[in-house]
Amino acid sequence: GAPAPALVVAGLGKRYGGVQAVDDISLDLAPGERMGVIGPNGAGKTTLFKMIAGDVGPTTGTIELFGRDVTKLSTARRARLGVGRTFQVSNLFREMTVLDNVRVAARGGSPKARVFWRVQGRRDEVTQESTMMLESVGLHARRDDTVADLSHGEQRQLEIAMALVSRPTILLLDEPAAGLSAVERTTLRRLIEELPRTLPILLIEHDMTLALGLTDRVMCMENGKHVVTGTPDEVRDHPTVKEIYLGRR
Ligand code: ATP
Repeated sequence: GAPAPALVVAGLGKRYGGVQAVDDISLDLAPGERMGVIGPNGAGKTTLFKMIAGDVGPTTGTIELFGRDVTKLSTARRARLGVGRTFQVSNLFREMTVLDNVRVAARGGSPKARVFWRVQGRRDEVTQESTMMLESVGLHARRDDTVADLSHGEQRQLEIAMALVSRPTILLLDEPAAGLSAVERTTLRRLIEELPRTLPILLIEHDMTLALGLTDRVMCMENGKHVVTGTPDEVRDHPTVKEIYLGRR
């Protein structure tokens, strides 16, 4: 039959005390598809991301990755099943070099990655693969610098390299452009555009232009609830989305 979707979220909800942060959200991501999730502050995007990554457990609903129910699995188990992800609050080792950060990330990751490292064996190979990842995100020249010396934008590029070195089968990006300058945003946008088309990507992003420019489909949420899912053009032209983003209400 047809290959299982990369991700299926069904009826997902999360309640914090009196706040329904996420309310009955469903979405699915086909193999190789890129999907954006947009919405204003407090829409529930971060909470949705955390549930998919496994950082927090949902109050209701289920999450499937490649046909497997992962709702109750830890972040580590999900990572081993192929989830690569970035973090809203940086997860980098600031006093270590850029290259060493990627090498550390290379030791975690999916079984495919583990087998790869075991077969390839040596430290040299880890270094080689990590160097390749740094090249692919345009950070090769900074490999021996400490992370603390990188700009904000370069740190985001590094986080993507670290997510990729685990050879993920799905990539979750959590507001990658938050806090970046216009120039840094352009660099990041190119980087994401150039990722392999076979890799399914879920991109949570407050910046509507960026999210719409990078994805095949977009979901907009507000106050924890689903507003619309469609192509970038459909979502851009949706009356509620216009109201939310242009403040016309
Ligand atoms: P932003 O763009 O500001 O990150 P968001 O769309 O990511 O917003 P969330 O951070 O998911 O939104 O928050 C959704 C709602 O849930 C908000 O009202 C928020 O205050 C609430 N919330 C989120 N996390 C918690 C928590 N740990 N405890 C209590 N309430 C929370």
